[in-house]
Amino acid sequence: MALPLRSRLALTAVKRRLPAMAAGDVAAGLPRGLHVAVVGSGSPLPDASRGNACVAVIAAGRIFLVDAGERSAETMTRMRLAPHRIAAVLLTHFHSDHIGGLGSVSLQRWVADAAHDPLRVLGPPGVERVVAGLNEAYALDCGYRTEHHGPAVAPPSGAGMIALPFTSPEGEESVVVLDEDGLRVTAFAVDHAPVEPALGYRFDFEGRSVVMSGDTVYSPSLVRAARGADLLLHDALSPGLLRLAQDAAAGAGMSSRRQIFADVPDYHATAPQAADATREAGVGALALTHIIPPLPMRALEPVFLGDAREHFAGPLWLARDGDLYSLLSGGAGVQRKRLISRLPGI
Ligand SMILES: [Zn+2]
Ligand SMILES: [Zn+2]
Repeated sequence: MALPLRSRLALTAVKRRLPAMAAGDVAAGLPRGLHVAVVGSGSPLPDASRGNACVAVIAAGRIFLVDAGERSAETMTRMRLAPHRIAAVLLTHFHSDHIGGLGSVSLQRWVADAAHDPLRVLGPPGVERVVAGLNEAYALDCGYRTEHHGPAVAPPSGAGMIALPFTSPEGEESVVVLDEDGLRVTAFAVDHAPVEPALGYRFDFEGRSVVMSGDTVYSPSLVRAARGADLLLHDALSPGLLRLAQDAAAGAGMSSRRQIFADVPDYHATAPQAADATREAGVGALALTHIIPPLPMRALEPVFLGDAREHFAGPLWLARDGDLYSLLSGGAGVQRKRLISRLPGI
């Protein structure tokens, strides 16, 4: 069968690009330091350009995921973040947009390099239920894959996840939840009521530090835990833009949806509030993430930010899926670049 010219050209292009796609392993070539890859910068509201919450913190070639919402595994491959490098996942809380991609992240890590141990998932109490449920949901799948590819490629001992719960910090308390190879991860409580527990994490490595807010309103415990850090990733919501969606839902007679849009602002910070937290904590730079509502046009970003830049004078970005923020060992400041391909890896 004669293929159309366009198809033959596409086939040639794919053949040419496959070797690079297969060899993609960005973490192997990163300079010494703490690197923060934004895998998902969106929220549960459907967003064509932003996946659900997921940030990959990379230190000494190992990847630590903070949350794993839907599309995490797919965007990781587009960023050439090799799944066999995932050392652990840390969950901030158990909202669906923070756990919905755990199953496929776990599966990709398992078969990427014949992992012999299950994926570690750290979190406050409740993580056992999430992990047990997903392990059960994926149990048949894991069995099929071992049967099909053999135990050398898909070892049963490495399938699924293991929950590692820790005692949830309360009030202004911080607890060290991981201390490995020079990387220290500290958890602190944030305010995402009625969701409890809800945590943020601070990563310290070779004198550099990044803080993840998780989902929260402006939170004094976050300001305290983030003191002096180099970079803060903070969730952000625009009440004004969300109000437009709320009004549209009301106009369309969608009363449940209108109610949801009305409920959401009381448990996320606005961009100016996130900027306040950054300034008060003396943090060097701010990247806003967990963007609510979706911004279908880049031109809406100034509307989303409001007067946030008047609240914090340092570098302030609206994070996008595919961003890489680098905090080099022995260096200062934050280097930012894009790290994403239209094509997935293999
Ligand atoms: Zn949440
Ligand atoms: Zn969320």
